[in-house]
Amino acid sequence: MTVRTRVAPSPTGDPHVGTAYIALFNRCFARQHGGQFILRIEDTDQTRSSDASEQAILESLRWLGLDWDEGPDVGGPHAPYRQSERAGDYRLYAERLIADGHAFKCFRSAEELDQLRAELKERSENRALKPADLELPADEQQRREDAGDPYVIRMRVPESGRCEIDDMLRGTVELDWSLVDAQILLKSDGMPTYHLANVVDDHLMEITHVIRGEEWLNSAPKHKLLYQYFGWDMPVLCHMPLLRNPDKSKLSKRKNPVSINFYRRMGYLPEAVVNYLGRM
Ligand code: GLU
Repeated sequence: MTVRTRVAPSPTGDPHVGTAYIALFNRCFARQHGGQFILRIEDTDQTRSSDASEQAILESLRWLGLDWDEGPDVGGPHAPYRQSERAGDYRLYAERLIADGHAFKCFRSAEELDQLRAELKERSENRALKPADLELPADEQQRREDAGDPYVIRMRVPESGRCEIDDMLRGTVELDWSLVDAQILLKSDGMPTYHLANVVDDHLMEITHVIRGEEWLNSAPKHKLLYQYFGWDMPVLCHMPLLRNPDKSKLSKRKNPVSINFYRRMGYLPEAVVNYLGRM
């Protein structure tokens, strides 16, 4: 097996040191095993993504010497490496899940969702919204579809029980299905959410190890289920600790400069920045 890792930044602002940190470990792991390191741009949030941000991310990672074997600029056998260029494909995957009974169209409006959440709260039910809460009776669904109402595609998730996630760093982690919502996979604008696009791309790009920040650990049950629904092997997961402020809060631009370009402008050498991130 050839080890293939990736870093998958969303181009929605200044290049973040957290992206460099995750890129570094993915790149080192791939190199250690004689594998490949891929850069993928996750730009499915069309309102927040920009070309300027993408360029800045590529440029700053290059400045740090964290170059990649495949990516939107250098190409590769699994192109496109920019999710917006694969947009039509994700819909087909979402429709395949509907056909197999693993996903459903959800016509609920923002007001209805607020109402459903308020009802859960009133009943002191501390759980996520499930397909049974969201799915409309067939005739009402048909009526809204005929009326041309917008809808999203959501995945079916278990109501209760425990989900076991194997993590390369943490061992087996148990998460509670009752807290996992019927995740939106395809938005009403036809674009996929992170969860669908990420799983589809990791599969198509033959990623073997997903090394990412620990903020994604709670998404792992949904991803595991998607791999099962599609009948695909799941990559090994490894959730890295986040970079934090001395008071243990998440590193954020309100407290610290988080842009790689800040350190560059201040005259830090790229080797010093990489060394520092490596020692985290
Ligand atoms: N686009 C996600 C991010 O911005 C990628 C997370 C992942 O590696 O799965 O961090």
